[in-house]
Amino acid sequence: MFNATLINDPFGDPGVYLEFKYRPSALMFDLGDLHLLPPRKLLKIDRIFISHTHMDHFIGFDQLLRVCLGRNRHIHLFGPPGILRSVESRIGSYTWNLVENYTNDFAIIVTEVAQTGQKITRCYRCRTAFLPEDAGMADPGGPLADERFFSVRAVFLDHRIPCLAFRFDEKWRIHIKKTALAEMGLPPGPWLMDFKERLLAGAPAESLVLARWKGEDGTLRGKEVTLGELKERAVRIAPGQGVTYVTDALYSEGNAERIVELAAGSELLFIEATFLDEDAHRAAHKFHLTARQAGMLARRAGVKRIQIFHFSPKYRGMEERLTREAMEAFAGTA
Ligand SMILES: [Zn+2]
Repeated sequence: MFNATLINDPFGDPGVYLEFKYRPSALMFDLGDLHLLPPRKLLKIDRIFISHTHMDHFIGFDQLLRVCLGRNRHIHLFGPPGILRSVESRIGSYTWNLVENYTNDFAIIVTEVAQTGQKITRCYRCRTAFLPEDAGMADPGGPLADERFFSVRAVFLDHRIPCLAFRFDEKWRIHIKKTALAEMGLPPGPWLMDFKERLLAGAPAESLVLARWKGEDGTLRGKEVTLGELKERAVRIAPGQGVTYVTDALYSEGNAERIVELAAGSELLFIEATFLDEDAHRAAHKFHLTARQAGMLARRAGVKRIQIFHFSPKYRGMEERLTREAMEAFAGTA
């Protein structure tokens, strides 16, 4: 279970914060200005996916670095060709003579994705003044991330430079049947999270789950049940949901095909809608999408919901027109 939202209003810098509901973990797509995210949220970020390094998509890097310094955290950042050089230049512009005394060793791992799909990964650790190290990670090919609970893959789009679009997929969704739980005499509570994690991790059916709750008299109660019985009686496993993030792309046949393929069937598509369609020539000249194009792509991809963003400042006060244009194209009424 997760929640994905834009970090700024649609005229602000791009960025999507995807937060897992019951785990201290979050992903970011792009790093525009982050000042609306409190440090508590920034400190949950452990994976970052950068589309390209135009300033409005990467200026938040320093803000994040600053919050993480001295923390015992590892962040893995993925980006297009040139991302290693971009990170090294940003880090290289500061002085790091006191960091060897830090108790915690914050590290940032950076994977540069080539258009061939090949990946190069380097590691930068705070206590060694962020000098580049070979991360010693083999490139297994395939998606950028393939974790127990989710995966993230990317495609390249043409923004006059290579620009990455991303697709996040939750692997499963575990629904708990409340009535079945009540029949078993088990009140819901935080213990269910532990159970869900173990279930997804493939723990054996005969292993015991300890349900804990507070009784009416305030005393702590507990009951053990096997994982298998709980799964059998009170669990429904559904396919997970997908979220796609598309920004900064020319409306061309090649881009359209790649976007539609990537976003197909997503629960939610974040897609740029920088211009109104009456300014389509301008959009093409700047390698951006119009609101109508965004809506048409979302319709072709069969996504459930869209969230448009990255509006050109020239439309301030006219955001309703952008939204209406995108929604009409999405609904197929225009
Ligand atoms: Zn941009």
